[in-house]
Amino acid sequence: MDNKINKFIGAHMSITGGLFNAPLNAKKIGAKAFALFLKNQKRWEAKPYTEEDITKFKDILKECNYDVKYILPHDGYLINLGNKDDIKREKSLLAFIDEIERADQLGLIYLNAHPGSHLKEMEEKECLALIANCLNIAIKKTKNVKIVLENTAGQGSNLGYTFEQIGEIIELVEDKTRIGVCLDTCHTLAAGYELKTQEGYENTMNEFENKIGFKYLCGVHLNDSKFDVGSKKDRHDSIGAGVIGLDFFKMFMNDNRFDNIPIILETIDETIWEEEITFLYSLINS
Ligand code: MN
Ligand code: MN
Ligand code: ZN
Repeated sequence: MDNKINKFIGAHMSITGGLFNAPLNAKKIGAKAFALFLKNQKRWEAKPYTEEDITKFKDILKECNYDVKYILPHDGYLINLGNKDDIKREKSLLAFIDEIERADQLGLIYLNAHPGSHLKEMEEKECLALIANCLNIAIKKTKNVKIVLENTAGQGSNLGYTFEQIGEIIELVEDKTRIGVCLDTCHTLAAGYELKTQEGYENTMNEFENKIGFKYLCGVHLNDSKFDVGSKKDRHDSIGAGVIGLDFFKMFMNDNRFDNIPIILETIDETIWEEEITFLYSLINS
């Protein structure tokens, strides 16, 4: 089988000047997938989309030939569904529902989100339950879009740094058809999962299968890492420039468990994304 057509690699594209620029920018660098923010990721408020915004985005997607299966929108940075404070959590939940509705308006099928943070105000278990409860409410109030939880590096008080934690949230989500997972490779290493050796890679993937399950995998953030295994530091690097090493990227590119899903670069130098994509495809064994 030709692996080449089964890996869909792209990057997180800018929406400066309009949402429609994300697919246009993606096309320019030869991306087969892409990520984007649905609004300014550092603000709570944003104007609703106009009919024109929506039509233009959809038209350009079609022109550029992108299937929504390979588009992984990311939610804003302020949202914390695990906030112990009821008022703050409610604000996050409303913003999260707004993001899901935006994705749906654009005809997109995923929304990538970080689980949430306990802010050192409660036990991890309690926070996971708050997050799951918010997800259940958000799912009930919206339709079509699958929420794609990202594993985190474990920096600060961010939860979702172990596969068990992600698995536990999924366990508590009532409608399992609306929940999925995005594996961030920098975060995986930083959280303490070895990826650099064949043995480490296999153990980590087995752990992912056992604690979460590949059936939930909807996307990957393919990043190298500035810091080594267990650093708990969320510091991405360009492919091959960090500590993960090319053995990992070779194993990944030839692993068919990562076929037919969006694979998104969030690497630090966007001027070399096109080269990184070409390089990654060259790692596939013919
Ligand atoms: Mn993320
Ligand atoms: Mn990420
Ligand atoms: Zn990160």
